[in-house]
Amino acid sequence: MEPKAHFHFCPRCGHQLAAPPAEPRLRCAACGFQLFFNPAVSVGAFIFRPDGAMLWLRRAKDPRRGKLGLPGGFIDFNETAEAALDREVREEVGIAARDVKFVLSLPNRYEFAGVTYPVLDLFFTAQAIAPDQARPLDEVSELLWRRPEGVALDEIAFVSVREALVRFREGLA
Ligand SMILES: [Zn+2]
Repeated sequence: MEPKAHFHFCPRCGHQLAAPPAEPRLRCAACGFQLFFNPAVSVGAFIFRPDGAMLWLRRAKDPRRGKLGLPGGFIDFNETAEAALDREVREEVGIAARDVKFVLSLPNRYEFAGVTYPVLDLFFTAQAIAPDQARPLDEVSELLWRRPEGVALDEIAFVSVREALVRFREGLA
């Protein structure tokens, strides 16, 4: 369920809320409290090494454990997308990237602990610095270097990443 559907009482005054309306906010008829629900923002990158292969990681944890993803993750409060990408790439694969360029954004849904979060994924391309030193770290069971056409779409964990790869193969970036 989406985050809003888990609220049954007003977080401010405790009044029982009516069935949630379609709009992406919670409103309390008793005290006027309003709470907006916005997408979480995430970054991911197609990181290349000089031979044209891109870096994929196999997810060690749910959601979608065992499926392939890109280096990246959620943006923290007061953090830029660029800083989040740099931080996540270092945490997950232990290398840095250069020539980071924004490509496109796509909506996604991320299920965790019974809550389905609406997400906006921001996709970048980048070049790996010292690709030979990449290794599986946080929440990663395996690294794979594959050419863009060498990844089957049903191996990929998230619909947004599948779509981004399709668009990339079509020459978007
Ligand atoms: Zn209230």
